[in-house]
Amino acid sequence: MLLENLVTPGLLTAAYLIASILMISALGGLSRHETAVRGNLYGALGMALAVLATIAGSQVTSYTVVAITLAIGLVIGYIAAYKVKMTGMPAMVGLLNSFGGLSSALVGYASYLDAMTRVYNPPWTAAEQAIHSTEVYLGVLIGSLTFTGSVVAFAKLNEYITTKPVYLPGRHFINLGIGIACIFIGIQFVGADLDTGILYLILMTILSGIFGVHLVMAIGGADMPVVIAVLNTYSGWAATVTGFVLSNNMLIIAGTLVGGSGIILSYLMCKAMNRSLLSVMAGGFGEAGGTVVTGAGAEQGEVVPITAEDTGDLLASAKEIIIVPGYGMAVAQAQHAISEITRKLREQGVQVRFAIHPVAGRMPGHMNVLLAEAKIPYDIVLEMDEINEDFPQTDAVLVIGANDIVNPSALDDPNSPIAGMPVLEVWKAKTVIVMKRSMATGFAGVQNPLFFKDNTRMLFGDARKSVDAILGSI
Ligand code: NDP
Repeated sequence: MLLENLVTPGLLTAAYLIASILMISALGGLSRHETAVRGNLYGALGMALAVLATIAGSQVTSYTVVAITLAIGLVIGYIAAYKVKMTGMPAMVGLLNSFGGLSSALVGYASYLDAMTRVYNPPWTAAEQAIHSTEVYLGVLIGSLTFTGSVVAFAKLNEYITTKPVYLPGRHFINLGIGIACIFIGIQFVGADLDTGILYLILMTILSGIFGVHLVMAIGGADMPVVIAVLNTYSGWAATVTGFVLSNNMLIIAGTLVGGSGIILSYLMCKAMNRSLLSVMAGGFGEAGGTVVTGAGAEQGEVVPITAEDTGDLLASAKEIIIVPGYGMAVAQAQHAISEITRKLREQGVQVRFAIHPVAGRMPGHMNVLLAEAKIPYDIVLEMDEINEDFPQTDAVLVIGANDIVNPSALDDPNSPIAGMPVLEVWKAKTVIVMKRSMATGFAGVQNPLFFKDNTRMLFGDARKSVDAILGSI
């Protein structure tokens, strides 16, 4: 017996309403450290309820298909959640965005074929058919470009392909041409019969897929966080349009929540990078004087190394310390040892605080998650705007696996590929200790003059090993 006999339309609406409230509460919870775990739980509960209610609803006609697909999804999701490391999370989110886009495109195709081959009773009016075709077209368009764009973003984040911008000559004209072609094909598609309509749909899918690849390939280096946020937004809007195609209110609400919060995140990321969304989408960072930056940049003088023992002495004799974590801390998983150093130094009366750059690591909030996991008190973890003016009064700054976010050329050098991006002004402190393994550049591929400053000391080696050695010497 199908569950639809048990789940009345009223019950389904009530379930969707509760799921929507849970999802809105999730967004509220995720906005603060203290409530983030609870927010996550609300989100998971809301999604579970939405899925169960939908399965129980009247649109599902075969539980076998649902059970098989659910089982495959659960196994892949379970393995991925356990296997993927924290540093791989941003790339995984990129991949999940691509799945969202792909499923919207596929649902669009399925719904179009279904509508065009099924005899409706009563038959659709021309207006109803035009509305349905428009919804399908938009869903497939956004879904397809989200899919290919997210796959490229995934490859860039995993550094399978270059993280730098890659341009085709006349790229703006190519984009404009594809945009105009998609509008033209869309007009022909609405109202076309099944045989020609499906050809238009396939043509547009190919064009929008190329558009997604082209758009994200041209964005590189330090602009990637904005692109991830924008693709996340697109996957939300693709789901919303799919919700209209399927007449599913839950999908419309969930998609709009993802799309809406994605717009806010994109805006915040742009603000943090001092960039406009338009200039990000047009490409720019990682590009110098119209040419793509290809090398690591020239070294700019002598670097002064320091040992872990000397670092320990320096920290123990300081009164005020600021720790700046970056992507390397996540790679080395040094957050627990850092937490231990923080505890020891605070016990000795040293003031220790953390400075978090909005795009540190590889996803928004990356550092906050790691520091929270290592039980570092929230009140000593400060955002860039809250702490940037305090560096001149600071005795020692410990930069752990950060690079682009502490690069002074962003402020000093108008020709720098990252010129204009706000950074943590660590060089204003009395002494800066930078922990990294080599002189390699960060994600943006830009050399960092900080390493060559008189008050900078380089502690080379894996951050975890260096932090353990410092801990031993304090
Ligand atoms: P960076 O990528 O600029 O630098 C990280 C540094 O960590 C590297 O220079 C590397 O140097 C060092 N490192 C790597 N592994 C280790 C290790 N095991 N031990 C010690 N050091 C290590 O990171 P930042 O956090 O400074 O900046 C983030 C960058 O990522 C920005 O350009 C940002 O735009 C971009 N980005 C951010 C996203 C976000 O949402 N936050 C998303 C996508 C991109 P070495 O190899 O010498 O050790």
